[in-house]
Amino acid sequence: MEKHENRSITEPAKTLPIRTEVDVAVIGAGPAGIMAALAAAEEGLKVALIEGRSFVGGNLTIGLPVLGFLSQKGKLIIKGLSEKLMERLRARGAASAHQPCPLHVSLTLIDPEVVKSVAVEMLTECKVELLLHTMFSEVVMEGDRIKALIVKGKSDREAILAKMVIDTTGDAEVAKRSGVPCKKGNEQGGMQPPTLMFSMEGADTGRLRECLVNDPETYDCDFIPPDYFAKNPRFILVGLRKLIARARADGLVIPNDRTILISGLREGEFWVNMTRVKGVDGTDARSLTAGEIETRGQIDDLCTYLVSYVPGFEQARLARVAPFLGIRETRRMVGQYTLTGDDIRSCRRFDDAIAVASYPIDLHSPDDDDCVREWCGDCYDIPYRSLVPRNVSNLLVAGRCISATHEALASTRVMSTCMALGEAAGRAAQLCVREKVSPADVDTHRLRKELLACGAYLRDLSE
Ligand SMILES: Cc1cc2nc3c(=O)[nH]c(=O)nc-3n(C[C@H](O)[C@H](O)[C@H](O)COP(=O)(O)OP(=O)(O)OC[C@H]3O[C@@H](n4cnc5c(N)ncnc54)[C@H](O)[C@@H]3O)c2cc1C
Repeated sequence: MEKHENRSITEPAKTLPIRTEVDVAVIGAGPAGIMAALAAAEEGLKVALIEGRSFVGGNLTIGLPVLGFLSQKGKLIIKGLSEKLMERLRARGAASAHQPCPLHVSLTLIDPEVVKSVAVEMLTECKVELLLHTMFSEVVMEGDRIKALIVKGKSDREAILAKMVIDTTGDAEVAKRSGVPCKKGNEQGGMQPPTLMFSMEGADTGRLRECLVNDPETYDCDFIPPDYFAKNPRFILVGLRKLIARARADGLVIPNDRTILISGLREGEFWVNMTRVKGVDGTDARSLTAGEIETRGQIDDLCTYLVSYVPGFEQARLARVAPFLGIRETRRMVGQYTLTGDDIRSCRRFDDAIAVASYPIDLHSPDDDDCVREWCGDCYDIPYRSLVPRNVSNLLVAGRCISATHEALASTRVMSTCMALGEAAGRAAQLCVREKVSPADVDTHRLRKELLACGAYLRDLSE
């Protein structure tokens, strides 16, 4: 194959049309970005939400349950706009209640298709200017400020002007392009492996539960006792290692040592979290292409495995494949404070806490098929400073790419937490615009007060 790595071409400078000029531009419409845009727009600021795909939702649309609304002690710790979204979904039968889970703390099932339209409905009500099919690519800097964002979609390249920018791309794309130091993966650069989710329909959930309850020796589950499956018709199942060993011995290629099934909202529906490919860099299109192709190729054998070995799946068939490969980890920006695994283990409190989280450190090994989970027993705070880059004066970062270590990200990455971080960033951006201050100078006591007034959950600093 012809090698292109070292070849380059210089692009002549161009004058670009200005697509829009706003108070706050949010880049990336995943769980964090939707909440950031809503929070920034609630008081009437002009807000644009820029999304590369044809729909909003990011990983809310790939068949995953939302984890982490409840704490390890069973308390509702994610409220505010995230809970409003869930309530709207519930009103349409498109979200479950928050259900405690011994392995995942709590799960909230959602319908990925309804999420897309309900989120757009909420954004429209808040008059957020939504730009779909629009990929952010570069920044124009003026000193330490982002002067313009350069985007490209079906239209030609255009510029967006904004007083404040929020990076919710999951990949710290804006932070990186504007010169914020970023890190990727663990010390060796290894990142948690991605997964292409798919769903099966026509399964007999009752039969599967019966086997899990009555024969846990054959149908072995990680951590979750059989009794849980007896009581809960909806669940996440992780395990069935013996069945996988048998299927592999019979010649099937199963890329995961564990069967991971998430019951869907529809009768007989399960989402399957079992494709896996190591060494994919979610910020590199070539690597992503290889990952998409490899994981798609794994689906056939996984369906055969489920139908032939897992009780209740005898009549099941492939229903849907997620619209894109799910990326667990890429870049994290390095901000004013970097949240660590020890902060989480010690349930650390911060004076500038803008979100509370409780999901365990859930680290899918970049190198082998191992998955390590560490519980802190209660909650920990996420400080505002983890959203604030050091050297760009009109940028905030929220969601998966905040300033956290590889280990801490393995906990903060769940979607309830990302939504809470997005809301905090949106309200902070609003303060920056109203008070004409930069993110580093935001009065965090005031920000906390505003978050509480808007229904977010935070702990009293004296607690
Ligand atoms: C396989 C897998 C299983 C997981 N399991 C769970 C689970 O069960 N429950 C749970 O709560 N969490 C789970 N997670 C974690 C969770 O899904 C993510 O960490 C979370 O969605 C991150 O939210 P975000 O808003 O930061 O980013 P994302 O959800 O990734 O959204 C980022 C958005 O930005 C857009 N974007 C990116 N770059 C650009 C650009 N340059 N221009 C324009 N738009 C751009 C993307 O298209 C996307 O819409 C899982 C993740 C994976 C991959």
